[in-house]
Amino acid sequence: MKTLRSYVCGGWHEADTGFTTLYNPSTEEPVAQASTAGIDFGAVLTYARERGGPALRELDFLARGELLKNMSKALYDKRDELIALSLENTGTTRRDAKFDLDGATGTLHYYGALAQTLGPNRVMVDGEGQKLGRSARFWGEHVRVPLHGAAVLINAFNFPAWGFAEKAAAAILAGMPVVIKPATSTAMVTERCIEILIEADVVPDGVISLICGAAGDLVSRLDSQDVLAFTGSANTALKLKGADNLLHECTRVNVEADSLNAAVLAGDVEPSSETWGLFLNDVFREITQKSGQKCTAVRRIFVPQEHADTIQAELSQRLGDVVVGNPADPSVTMGPLASAAQLHDAVEGTRRLAGEAPIVHGSGERVDGVGAEPGKGYFFAPTLLRNDEAEHADLVHHHEVFGPVATLLPYDGSAAKAATLVAMGGGSLVASYYSDSDDHAATFLAEAGPFSGRIYLGSEKMAEQAPGSGVALPQSLHGGPGRAGGGEELGGLRALNLYTQRVALQGSRKMLQNLTGTTSEE
Ligand code: NAP
Repeated sequence: MKTLRSYVCGGWHEADTGFTTLYNPSTEEPVAQASTAGIDFGAVLTYARERGGPALRELDFLARGELLKNMSKALYDKRDELIALSLENTGTTRRDAKFDLDGATGTLHYYGALAQTLGPNRVMVDGEGQKLGRSARFWGEHVRVPLHGAAVLINAFNFPAWGFAEKAAAAILAGMPVVIKPATSTAMVTERCIEILIEADVVPDGVISLICGAAGDLVSRLDSQDVLAFTGSANTALKLKGADNLLHECTRVNVEADSLNAAVLAGDVEPSSETWGLFLNDVFREITQKSGQKCTAVRRIFVPQEHADTIQAELSQRLGDVVVGNPADPSVTMGPLASAAQLHDAVEGTRRLAGEAPIVHGSGERVDGVGAEPGKGYFFAPTLLRNDEAEHADLVHHHEVFGPVATLLPYDGSAAKAATLVAMGGGSLVASYYSDSDDHAATFLAEAGPFSGRIYLGSEKMAEQAPGSGVALPQSLHGGPGRAGGGEELGGLRALNLYTQRVALQGSRKMLQNLTGTTSEE
Protein backbone atom coordinates (compact mmCIF):
# COMPACT_ATOMS: atom_id res chain seq x y z
CA MET A 1 0.00 0.00 0.00
CA LYS A 2 1.25 3.46 -0.89
CA THR A 3 2.43 5.70 1.95
CA LEU A 4 1.64 9.35 1.30
CA ARG A 5 4.44 11.75 2.08
CA SER A 6 4.45 15.34 3.23
CA TYR A 7 6.64 17.97 1.61
CA VAL A 8 8.18 20.05 4.38
CA CYS A 9 11.35 22.09 4.97
CA GLY A 10 12.46 21.58 1.39
CA GLY A 11 12.20 17.76 1.34
CA TRP A 12 9.85 14.77 1.43
CA HIS A 13 8.93 13.37 4.83
CA GLU A 14 7.63 9.81 5.18
CA ALA A 15 6.26 8.79 8.56
CA ASP A 16 6.68 5.27 9.93
CA THR A 17 3.89 5.21 12.51
CA GLY A 18 0.45 6.59 13.37
CA PHE A 19 -1.16 5.95 9.97
CA THR A 20 -4.70 6.70 8.79
CA THR A 21 -5.86 4.43 5.96
CA LEU A 22 -7.34 5.83 2.74
CA TYR A 23 -9.87 3.69 0.84
CA ASN A 24 -11.25 3.26 -2.65
CA PRO A 25 -14.88 4.26 -1.95
CA SER A 26 -16.22 1.96 -4.67
CA THR A 27 -14.52 -1.20 -3.42
CA GLU A 28 -13.61 -0.33 0.18
CA GLU A 29 -10.08 -1.58 -0.56
CA PRO A 30 -7.27 0.30 1.19
CA VAL A 31 -5.33 2.39 -1.33
CA ALA A 32 -2.89 4.39 0.78
CA GLN A 33 -1.93 5.47 4.26
CA ALA A 34 -0.95 8.86 5.66
CA SER A 35 0.60 10.14 8.84
CA THR A 36 2.35 13.31 9.96
CA ALA A 37 4.26 11.58 12.79
CA GLY A 38 7.70 13.12 13.15
CA ILE A 39 6.87 16.46 11.52
CA ASP A 40 7.92 19.55 13.43
CA PHE A 41 5.15 21.98 12.46
CA GLY A 42 7.03 24.93 13.94
CA ALA A 43 9.94 24.21 11.62
CA VAL A 44 7.55 23.85 8.65
CA LEU A 45 6.17 27.34 9.24
CA THR A 46 9.59 28.86 9.83
CA TYR A 47 10.90 27.38 6.58
CA ALA A 48 7.95 28.73 4.61
CA ARG A 49 8.19 32.16 6.24
CA GLU A 50 11.97 32.49 5.95
CA ARG A 51 12.64 30.79 2.59
CA GLY A 52 9.43 30.87 0.58
CA GLY A 53 8.26 34.35 1.60
CA PRO A 54 11.41 36.30 0.65
CA ALA A 55 11.80 34.29 -2.57
CA LEU A 56 8.30 35.21 -3.67
CA ARG A 57 8.48 38.82 -2.58
CA GLU A 58 11.57 39.24 -4.71
CA LEU A 59 9.50 38.43 -7.79
CA ASP A 60 7.25 41.06 -9.31
CA PHE A 61 3.63 40.26 -10.16
CA LEU A 62 4.49 39.32 -13.74
CA ALA A 63 7.05 36.75 -12.57
CA ARG A 64 4.60 35.35 -10.00
CA GLY A 65 2.01 35.16 -12.76
CA GLU A 66 4.42 33.13 -14.91
CA LEU A 67 5.01 30.83 -11.97
CA LEU A 68 1.25 30.23 -11.64
CA LYS A 69 0.90 29.53 -15.35
CA ASN A 70 3.76 27.04 -15.12
CA MET A 71 2.04 25.35 -12.18
CA SER A 72 -1.16 25.13 -14.21
CA LYS A 73 0.67 23.64 -17.19
CA ALA A 74 2.60 21.10 -15.12
CA LEU A 75 -0.65 19.78 -13.63
CA TYR A 76 -2.50 19.88 -16.93
CA ASP A 77 0.23 17.78 -18.55
CA LYS A 78 -0.53 15.01 -16.02
CA ARG A 79 -4.31 15.36 -16.29
CA ASP A 80 -5.03 11.76 -17.28
CA GLU A 81 -2.90 10.34 -14.49
CA LEU A 82 -4.61 12.61 -11.95
CA ILE A 83 -8.08 11.69 -13.23
CA ALA A 84 -7.28 7.99 -12.74
CA LEU A 85 -6.06 8.70 -9.22
CA SER A 86 -9.22 10.65 -8.45
CA LEU A 87 -11.40 7.71 -9.53
CA GLU A 88 -9.42 5.46 -7.21
CA ASN A 89 -9.33 7.62 -4.10
CA THR A 90 -12.42 9.86 -4.31
CA GLY A 91 -14.76 7.61 -6.30
CA THR A 92 -15.69 10.33 -8.75
CA THR A 93 -16.70 9.66 -12.34
CA ARG A 94 -14.27 10.83 -15.02
CA ARG A 95 -16.44 13.86 -15.64
CA ASP A 96 -16.46 14.82 -11.96
CA ALA A 97 -12.70 14.27 -11.69
CA LYS A 98 -12.19 16.60 -14.66
CA PHE A 99 -14.39 19.19 -12.96
CA ASP A 100 -11.99 19.18 -9.99
CA LEU A 101 -8.76 19.12 -12.02
CA ASP A 102 -9.83 21.60 -14.68
CA GLY A 103 -11.07 23.86 -11.91
CA ALA A 104 -7.56 23.68 -10.42
CA THR A 105 -5.59 24.31 -13.60
CA GLY A 106 -8.12 26.88 -14.85
CA THR A 107 -7.94 28.91 -11.65
CA LEU A 108 -4.13 28.81 -11.53
CA HIS A 109 -4.01 29.94 -15.15
CA TYR A 110 -6.61 32.65 -14.57
CA TYR A 111 -4.57 34.18 -11.73
CA GLY A 112 -1.40 33.77 -13.79
CA ALA A 113 -2.97 35.87 -16.54
CA LEU A 114 -4.49 38.35 -14.08
CA ALA A 115 -0.95 39.25 -12.99
CA GLN A 116 -0.71 41.25 -16.24
CA THR A 117 -3.11 43.81 -14.79
CA LEU A 118 -0.70 44.41 -11.88
CA GLY A 119 2.32 44.93 -14.10
CA PRO A 120 6.02 44.70 -13.17
CA ASN A 121 5.38 45.82 -9.57
CA ARG A 122 5.53 44.35 -6.07
CA VAL A 123 3.03 46.69 -4.52
CA MET A 124 -0.67 46.75 -5.39
CA VAL A 125 -2.37 50.10 -5.61
CA ASP A 126 -5.70 50.12 -3.81
CA GLY A 127 -8.12 52.69 -5.22
CA GLU A 128 -7.52 56.26 -6.30
CA GLY A 129 -4.90 58.48 -4.69
CA GLN A 130 -5.86 61.91 -3.37
CA LYS A 131 -4.46 65.31 -2.46
CA LEU A 132 -3.92 65.64 1.29
CA GLY A 133 -2.23 69.03 1.55
CA ARG A 134 -2.89 72.48 0.19
CA SER A 135 -1.46 71.35 -3.12
CA ALA A 136 -1.10 67.95 -4.76
CA ARG A 137 2.51 67.70 -3.56
CA PHE A 138 1.39 66.10 -0.29
CA TRP A 139 -0.38 63.03 -1.56
CA GLY A 140 -2.20 59.99 -0.16
CA GLU A 141 -2.50 56.49 -1.60
CA HIS A 142 -3.55 53.11 -0.31
CA VAL A 143 -1.40 50.14 -1.24
CA ARG A 144 -1.33 46.44 -0.48
CA VAL A 145 1.81 44.51 0.43
CA PRO A 146 2.13 40.77 1.17
CA LEU A 147 2.15 39.56 4.77
CA HIS A 148 5.48 38.10 5.90
CA GLY A 149 4.07 34.87 7.32
CA ALA A 150 2.82 31.63 5.80
CA ALA A 151 -0.65 30.95 4.40
CA VAL A 152 -1.98 27.70 5.83
CA LEU A 153 -4.57 26.25 3.46
CA ILE A 154 -6.80 23.60 5.06
CA ASN A 155 -9.23 21.94 2.69
CA ALA A 156 -12.25 19.66 2.61
CA PHE A 157 -12.24 16.19 1.08
CA ASN A 158 -14.42 16.95 -1.93
CA PHE A 159 -12.04 18.95 -4.15
CA PRO A 160 -8.53 17.56 -3.61
CA ALA A 161 -7.09 19.58 -6.53
CA TRP A 162 -9.29 22.65 -7.01
CA GLY A 163 -9.53 23.16 -3.26
CA PHE A 164 -5.84 23.89 -2.74
CA ALA A 165 -5.27 25.49 -6.15
CA GLU A 166 -7.87 28.24 -5.76
CA LYS A 167 -6.35 29.34 -2.46
CA ALA A 168 -2.73 28.89 -3.54
CA ALA A 169 -3.23 30.90 -6.74
CA ALA A 170 -4.31 33.99 -4.80
CA ALA A 171 -1.75 33.59 -2.02
CA ILE A 172 1.20 33.10 -4.38
CA LEU A 173 0.20 35.98 -6.63
CA ALA A 174 -0.09 38.13 -3.52
CA GLY A 175 3.41 37.01 -2.46
CA MET A 176 2.78 34.53 0.38
CA PRO A 177 4.16 30.97 0.62
CA VAL A 178 1.57 28.24 1.22
CA VAL A 179 1.32 25.25 3.56
CA ILE A 180 -1.29 22.95 2.03
CA LYS A 181 -3.22 20.56 4.26
CA PRO A 182 -5.76 18.47 2.31
CA ALA A 183 -8.41 16.34 4.02
CA THR A 184 -6.69 13.05 4.81
CA SER A 185 -9.36 10.77 3.32
CA THR A 186 -8.78 12.02 -0.26
CA ALA A 187 -5.20 13.31 -0.03
CA MET A 188 -3.81 11.03 -2.77
CA VAL A 189 -4.65 13.44 -5.58
CA THR A 190 -3.26 16.45 -3.69
CA GLU A 191 -0.06 14.60 -2.83
CA ARG A 192 0.51 13.69 -6.48
CA CYS A 193 -0.26 17.28 -7.58
CA ILE A 194 2.42 18.64 -5.25
CA GLU A 195 4.85 15.92 -6.33
CA ILE A 196 4.29 16.99 -9.95
CA LEU A 197 4.92 20.64 -9.08
CA ILE A 198 8.10 19.83 -7.16
CA GLU A 199 9.35 17.54 -9.95
CA ALA A 200 8.63 20.25 -12.52
CA ASP A 201 10.67 22.67 -10.39
CA VAL A 202 8.26 25.52 -11.07
CA VAL A 203 8.21 27.18 -7.63
CA PRO A 204 11.10 28.55 -5.56
CA ASP A 205 12.15 26.59 -2.49
CA GLY A 206 9.83 27.07 0.49
CA VAL A 207 6.89 28.45 -1.50
CA ILE A 208 4.89 25.22 -1.28
CA SER A 209 4.71 22.82 1.67
CA LEU A 210 2.33 19.87 1.96
CA ILE A 211 0.95 18.18 5.04
CA CYS A 212 -0.59 14.72 4.42
CA GLY A 213 -2.35 13.55 7.57
CA ALA A 214 -3.38 15.19 10.82
CA ALA A 215 -2.50 18.87 11.30
CA GLY A 216 -1.00 18.36 14.77
CA ASP A 217 -0.25 21.70 16.43
CA LEU A 218 0.09 23.56 13.13
CA VAL A 219 -2.78 25.98 13.73
CA SER A 220 -1.74 26.77 17.29
CA ARG A 221 1.63 28.02 15.93
CA LEU A 222 0.22 30.70 13.64
CA ASP A 223 0.94 34.33 14.42
CA SER A 224 -0.23 37.73 13.25
CA GLN A 225 1.61 37.61 9.92
CA ASP A 226 0.21 34.20 8.99
CA VAL A 227 -3.14 33.39 7.39
CA LEU A 228 -5.48 30.47 7.95
CA ALA A 229 -7.69 29.79 4.94
CA PHE A 230 -10.06 27.00 5.90
CA THR A 231 -12.67 25.03 3.96
CA GLY A 232 -14.65 22.34 5.70
CA SER A 233 -17.46 21.80 8.15
CA ALA A 234 -18.83 24.53 10.38
CA ASN A 235 -17.95 22.44 13.45
CA THR A 236 -14.26 22.22 12.60
CA ALA A 237 -14.23 25.90 11.64
CA LEU A 238 -15.68 26.87 15.01
CA LYS A 239 -13.02 24.85 16.83
CA LEU A 240 -10.18 26.30 14.78
CA LYS A 241 -11.11 29.95 14.71
CA GLY A 242 -11.60 30.02 18.47
CA ALA A 243 -7.95 28.99 19.06
CA ASP A 244 -6.31 31.27 21.65
CA ASN A 245 -3.32 32.20 19.53
CA LEU A 246 -5.51 33.18 16.56
CA LEU A 247 -7.61 35.42 18.80
CA HIS A 248 -4.65 36.96 20.61
CA GLU A 249 -2.57 37.50 17.48
CA CYS A 250 -5.57 38.64 15.38
CA THR A 251 -4.43 36.12 12.78
CA ARG A 252 -6.46 36.39 9.62
CA VAL A 253 -8.85 33.48 9.27
CA ASN A 254 -11.05 32.89 6.25
CA VAL A 255 -13.76 30.26 6.59
CA GLU A 256 -15.70 28.53 3.84
CA ALA A 257 -18.15 26.20 5.56
CA ASP A 258 -21.58 24.58 5.21
CA SER A 259 -24.26 26.03 3.01
CA LEU A 260 -27.91 25.25 2.36
CA ASN A 261 -27.93 26.65 -1.16
CA ALA A 262 -31.31 27.35 -2.71
CA ALA A 263 -32.64 27.22 -6.27
CA VAL A 264 -35.84 29.22 -6.79
CA LEU A 265 -38.25 28.99 -9.71
CA ALA A 266 -39.97 32.38 -9.84
CA GLY A 267 -43.70 32.85 -10.28
CA ASP A 268 -43.35 34.36 -13.78
CA VAL A 269 -41.74 31.29 -15.37
CA GLU A 270 -44.01 29.32 -17.72
CA PRO A 271 -43.82 25.52 -17.88
CA SER A 272 -41.71 24.26 -20.78
CA SER A 273 -40.13 27.70 -21.35
CA GLU A 274 -36.36 27.97 -21.80
CA THR A 275 -35.97 29.28 -18.24
CA TRP A 276 -38.01 26.37 -16.89
CA GLY A 277 -35.70 23.97 -18.76
CA LEU A 278 -32.60 25.76 -17.45
CA PHE A 279 -33.91 25.48 -13.89
CA LEU A 280 -34.52 21.74 -14.24
CA ASN A 281 -31.14 21.09 -15.87
CA ASP A 282 -29.29 23.11 -13.23
CA VAL A 283 -31.10 21.58 -10.28
CA PHE A 284 -30.56 18.07 -11.60
CA ARG A 285 -26.84 18.75 -12.11
CA GLU A 286 -26.48 20.41 -8.74
CA ILE A 287 -27.97 17.40 -6.94
CA THR A 288 -25.95 14.75 -8.75
CA GLN A 289 -22.59 16.27 -9.76
CA LYS A 290 -19.80 14.90 -7.54
CA SER A 291 -22.55 12.83 -5.88
CA GLY A 292 -23.86 16.01 -4.26
CA GLN A 293 -20.60 16.50 -2.36
CA LYS A 294 -20.22 20.09 -3.48
CA CYS A 295 -20.38 23.11 -1.20
CA THR A 296 -22.42 24.86 -3.90
CA ALA A 297 -24.85 21.96 -4.48
CA VAL A 298 -28.56 22.78 -4.34
CA ARG A 299 -30.11 21.59 -1.07
CA ARG A 300 -33.42 23.52 -1.13
CA ILE A 301 -35.63 23.80 -4.22
CA PHE A 302 -38.38 26.42 -4.07
CA VAL A 303 -41.11 26.14 -6.71
CA PRO A 304 -44.50 27.86 -7.06
CA GLN A 305 -47.22 25.67 -5.50
CA GLU A 306 -49.09 25.20 -8.78
CA HIS A 307 -45.99 23.68 -10.42
CA ALA A 308 -44.73 21.58 -7.53
CA ASP A 309 -46.20 18.25 -8.69
CA THR A 310 -44.94 18.72 -12.26
CA ILE A 311 -41.43 19.67 -11.12
CA GLN A 312 -41.37 16.76 -8.69
CA ALA A 313 -42.35 14.34 -11.45
CA GLU A 314 -39.82 15.74 -13.96
CA LEU A 315 -36.97 15.79 -11.44
CA SER A 316 -37.79 12.31 -10.15
CA GLN A 317 -37.72 10.97 -13.68
CA ARG A 318 -34.26 12.41 -14.31
CA LEU A 319 -32.94 11.29 -10.95
CA GLY A 320 -34.29 7.82 -11.66
CA ASP A 321 -32.12 7.64 -14.79
CA VAL A 322 -28.91 8.16 -12.80
CA VAL A 323 -26.71 5.05 -12.76
CA VAL A 324 -25.01 4.85 -9.36
CA GLY A 325 -21.92 2.69 -9.09
CA ASN A 326 -18.20 2.18 -9.54
CA PRO A 327 -16.99 4.83 -12.01
CA ALA A 328 -14.69 2.21 -13.51
CA ASP A 329 -17.88 0.86 -15.16
CA PRO A 330 -18.59 3.00 -18.26
CA SER A 331 -22.36 2.95 -17.72
CA VAL A 332 -22.05 4.65 -14.33
CA THR A 333 -23.05 8.32 -14.19
CA MET A 334 -22.68 8.96 -10.44
CA GLY A 335 -20.03 7.59 -8.11
CA PRO A 336 -20.13 6.73 -4.40
CA LEU A 337 -19.70 9.09 -1.49
CA ALA A 338 -16.06 9.64 -0.58
CA SER A 339 -15.84 7.69 2.67
CA ALA A 340 -17.68 5.47 5.13
CA ALA A 341 -18.07 8.49 7.43
CA GLN A 342 -19.69 10.53 4.65
CA LEU A 343 -22.08 7.68 3.86
CA HIS A 344 -23.02 7.36 7.51
CA ASP A 345 -23.63 11.13 7.78
CA ALA A 346 -25.73 11.19 4.59
CA VAL A 347 -27.95 8.29 5.73
CA GLU A 348 -28.33 9.73 9.21
CA GLY A 349 -28.91 13.29 7.93
CA THR A 350 -31.54 12.19 5.43
CA ARG A 351 -33.31 10.21 8.15
CA ARG A 352 -33.47 13.38 10.25
CA LEU A 353 -34.75 15.51 7.37
CA ALA A 354 -37.34 12.86 6.46
CA GLY A 355 -38.88 13.41 9.90
CA GLU A 356 -40.29 16.70 8.60
CA ALA A 357 -39.97 16.28 4.81
CA PRO A 358 -41.04 12.87 3.50
CA ILE A 359 -38.88 11.21 0.84
CA VAL A 360 -40.59 11.38 -2.56
CA HIS A 361 -37.78 9.85 -4.60
CA GLY A 362 -34.95 7.49 -3.54
CA SER A 363 -34.57 5.66 -0.28
CA GLY A 364 -32.12 7.64 1.82
CA GLU A 365 -30.22 4.39 2.42
CA ARG A 366 -27.01 2.83 1.12
CA VAL A 367 -27.54 1.03 -2.19
CA ASP A 368 -25.49 -1.50 -4.10
CA GLY A 369 -23.58 0.09 -6.99
CA VAL A 370 -23.44 -0.99 -10.62
CA GLY A 371 -20.06 -2.60 -11.34
CA ALA A 372 -19.37 -3.06 -7.62
CA GLU A 373 -19.43 -6.08 -5.34
CA PRO A 374 -22.80 -6.34 -3.53
CA GLY A 375 -22.54 -4.97 0.00
CA LYS A 376 -19.34 -3.06 -0.82
CA GLY A 377 -18.88 0.63 -1.59
CA TYR A 378 -20.27 3.85 -0.16
CA PHE A 379 -23.12 4.19 -2.66
CA PHE A 380 -26.10 6.43 -2.05
CA ALA A 381 -28.75 7.08 -4.74
CA PRO A 382 -30.15 10.58 -5.45
CA THR A 383 -32.87 11.37 -2.95
CA LEU A 384 -35.61 14.00 -3.15
CA LEU A 385 -37.70 15.04 -0.17
CA ARG A 386 -40.68 17.39 -0.01
CA ASN A 387 -42.21 19.68 2.57
CA ASP A 388 -45.30 21.70 1.69
CA GLU A 389 -44.91 24.05 4.63
CA ALA A 390 -41.61 25.66 3.76
CA GLU A 391 -41.78 28.21 6.57
CA HIS A 392 -42.01 25.49 9.20
CA ALA A 393 -39.42 23.14 7.74
CA ASP A 394 -36.90 23.83 10.47
CA LEU A 395 -34.25 21.16 9.79
CA VAL A 396 -34.41 21.59 6.03
CA HIS A 397 -33.18 25.17 6.53
CA HIS A 398 -30.54 24.18 9.09
CA HIS A 399 -29.10 20.77 8.38
CA GLU A 400 -26.81 20.20 5.42
CA VAL A 401 -26.74 16.64 4.09
CA PHE A 402 -23.51 16.47 2.09
CA GLY A 403 -24.67 14.07 -0.62
CA PRO A 404 -27.15 13.84 -3.53
CA VAL A 405 -30.05 14.98 -1.37
CA ALA A 406 -32.38 17.96 -1.84
CA THR A 407 -35.80 19.04 -0.60
CA LEU A 408 -38.62 20.40 -2.72
CA LEU A 409 -40.39 23.29 -0.99
CA PRO A 410 -43.50 24.75 -2.67
CA TYR A 411 -44.15 28.48 -2.05
CA ASP A 412 -46.52 31.20 -3.33
CA GLY A 413 -44.33 32.28 -6.28
CA SER A 414 -43.62 35.83 -5.08
CA ALA A 415 -40.05 37.14 -5.02
CA ALA A 416 -40.41 38.52 -1.50
CA LYS A 417 -41.57 35.19 -0.08
CA ALA A 418 -38.83 33.32 -1.94
CA ALA A 419 -36.22 35.65 -0.44
CA THR A 420 -37.61 35.21 3.09
CA LEU A 421 -37.39 31.43 2.71
CA VAL A 422 -33.90 31.54 1.22
CA ALA A 423 -32.77 33.70 4.16
CA MET A 424 -33.97 31.00 6.57
CA GLY A 425 -30.85 29.05 5.55
CA GLY A 426 -28.86 31.48 7.70
CA GLY A 427 -26.43 32.55 4.99
CA SER A 428 -25.35 30.59 1.93
CA LEU A 429 -22.71 30.44 -0.77
CA VAL A 430 -25.11 30.75 -3.67
CA ALA A 431 -28.80 31.30 -4.28
CA SER A 432 -30.04 30.76 -7.80
CA TYR A 433 -33.16 32.57 -8.95
CA TYR A 434 -34.80 31.62 -12.24
CA SER A 435 -36.93 34.41 -13.68
CA ASP A 436 -37.31 36.51 -16.81
CA SER A 437 -38.66 39.45 -14.82
CA ASP A 438 -36.29 42.28 -13.83
CA ASP A 439 -38.77 43.34 -11.12
CA HIS A 440 -38.78 39.90 -9.49
CA ALA A 441 -34.98 39.75 -9.70
CA ALA A 442 -34.63 43.22 -8.11
CA THR A 443 -36.88 42.28 -5.17
CA PHE A 444 -35.00 39.02 -4.73
CA LEU A 445 -31.62 40.79 -4.75
CA ALA A 446 -32.75 43.38 -2.20
CA GLU A 447 -34.23 40.82 0.20
CA ALA A 448 -32.00 37.74 -0.26
CA GLY A 449 -28.74 39.57 -1.13
CA PRO A 450 -27.51 40.02 2.47
CA PHE A 451 -27.89 36.28 3.03
CA SER A 452 -26.00 35.18 -0.09
CA GLY A 453 -22.38 35.22 -1.24
CA ARG A 454 -23.49 34.93 -4.85
CA ILE A 455 -26.81 35.28 -6.63
CA TYR A 456 -27.11 33.41 -9.89
CA LEU A 457 -29.90 34.82 -12.04
CA GLY A 458 -31.05 32.16 -14.50
CA SER A 459 -33.02 33.50 -17.46
CA GLU A 460 -33.61 32.70 -21.12
CA LYS A 461 -31.17 35.45 -22.17
CA MET A 462 -28.17 33.68 -20.60
CA ALA A 463 -29.37 30.07 -20.70
CA GLU A 464 -27.18 29.10 -23.63
CA GLN A 465 -23.90 30.23 -22.02
CA ALA A 466 -24.49 29.59 -18.33
CA PRO A 467 -22.30 26.93 -16.68
CA GLY A 468 -24.78 26.39 -13.83
CA SER A 469 -24.95 27.82 -10.35
CA GLY A 470 -22.45 25.37 -8.84
CA VAL A 471 -19.29 26.53 -10.58
CA ALA A 472 -17.00 28.75 -8.51
CA LEU A 473 -15.71 30.95 -11.33
CA PRO A 474 -12.47 32.73 -10.36
CA GLN A 475 -13.84 36.07 -11.58
CA SER A 476 -16.67 35.99 -8.99
CA LEU A 477 -16.48 35.85 -5.23
CA HIS A 478 -16.85 32.46 -3.56
CA GLY A 479 -17.96 32.45 0.06
CA GLY A 480 -21.01 33.47 1.97
CA PRO A 481 -22.25 35.04 5.20
CA GLY A 482 -23.41 33.34 8.37
CA ARG A 483 -23.63 29.56 8.16
CA ALA A 484 -21.42 29.59 5.05
CA GLY A 485 -18.53 30.83 7.21
CA GLY A 486 -18.44 34.56 6.45
CA GLY A 487 -15.45 34.15 4.15
CA GLU A 488 -14.53 35.35 0.70
CA GLU A 489 -12.32 33.65 -1.87
CA LEU A 490 -11.71 34.27 -5.59
CA GLY A 491 -13.43 37.30 -7.15
CA GLY A 492 -10.41 38.26 -9.25
CA LEU A 493 -7.94 40.51 -7.44
CA ARG A 494 -10.26 40.71 -4.40
CA ALA A 495 -8.86 37.30 -3.41
CA LEU A 496 -5.47 38.89 -2.72
CA ASN A 497 -6.89 41.00 0.11
CA LEU A 498 -6.66 38.10 2.55
CA TYR A 499 -2.94 37.71 1.97
CA THR A 500 -1.94 41.37 1.92
CA GLN A 501 -1.84 44.26 4.37
CA ARG A 502 -3.50 47.48 3.23
CA VAL A 503 -1.19 50.39 4.04
CA ALA A 504 -2.20 54.04 3.89
CA LEU A 505 0.74 55.88 2.33
CA GLN A 506 1.23 59.60 2.88
CA GLY A 507 4.09 61.55 1.34
CA SER A 508 5.31 63.44 -1.67
CA ARG A 509 3.35 62.56 -4.74
CA LYS A 510 6.51 61.91 -6.71
CA MET A 511 7.86 59.45 -4.15
CA LEU A 512 4.53 57.63 -3.90
CA GLN A 513 4.37 57.33 -7.66
CA ASN A 514 7.86 55.87 -7.75
CA LEU A 515 6.97 53.38 -5.03
CA THR A 516 3.75 52.23 -6.67
CA GLY A 517 4.89 52.36 -10.27
CA THR A 518 2.13 54.78 -11.20
CA THR A 519 2.38 58.05 -13.08
CA SER A 520 0.12 61.04 -13.31
CA GLU A 521 0.32 64.74 -13.94
CA GLU A 522 1.45 67.02 -11.11
P1 NAP B 1 -13.98 18.70 8.00
O1 NAP B 1 -14.16 17.40 8.65
O2 NAP B 1 -14.34 19.91 8.75
O3 NAP B 1 -12.45 18.76 7.54
C1 NAP B 1 -11.96 19.84 6.81
C2 NAP B 1 -10.46 19.92 6.95
O4 NAP B 1 -10.14 20.29 8.29
C3 NAP B 1 -9.73 18.61 6.71
O5 NAP B 1 -8.54 18.88 6.01
C4 NAP B 1 -9.42 18.12 8.10
O6 NAP B 1 -8.30 17.26 8.15
C5 NAP B 1 -9.12 19.43 8.77
N1 NAP B 1 -9.18 19.39 10.22
C6 NAP B 1 -10.06 18.75 11.02
N2 NAP B 1 -9.78 18.99 12.31
C7 NAP B 1 -8.69 19.81 12.34
C8 NAP B 1 -7.90 20.40 13.37
N3 NAP B 1 -8.19 20.22 14.65
N4 NAP B 1 -6.84 21.16 13.02
C9 NAP B 1 -6.54 21.38 11.72
N5 NAP B 1 -7.24 20.83 10.70
C10 NAP B 1 -8.32 20.07 11.00
O7 NAP B 1 -14.80 18.80 6.64
P2 NAP B 1 -14.90 17.72 5.45
O8 NAP B 1 -15.70 16.57 5.92
O9 NAP B 1 -13.56 17.46 4.86
O10 NAP B 1 -15.71 18.56 4.38
C11 NAP B 1 -17.10 18.61 4.31
C12 NAP B 1 -17.63 19.95 4.71
O11 NAP B 1 -16.93 20.98 4.02
C13 NAP B 1 -19.08 20.14 4.34
O12 NAP B 1 -19.77 20.57 5.45
C14 NAP B 1 -19.06 21.22 3.26
O13 NAP B 1 -20.19 22.06 3.29
C15 NAP B 1 -17.84 21.96 3.54
N6 NAP B 1 -17.30 22.55 2.32
C16 NAP B 1 -17.40 23.88 2.15
C17 NAP B 1 -16.90 24.48 1.01
C18 NAP B 1 -16.99 25.96 0.81
O14 NAP B 1 -16.32 26.48 -0.08
N7 NAP B 1 -17.77 26.67 1.57
C19 NAP B 1 -16.26 23.70 0.05
C20 NAP B 1 -16.18 22.33 0.25
C21 NAP B 1 -16.70 21.76 1.39
P3 NAP B 1 -8.47 15.67 8.31
O15 NAP B 1 -9.13 15.19 7.09
O16 NAP B 1 -7.07 15.21 8.45
O17 NAP B 1 -9.31 15.46 9.53
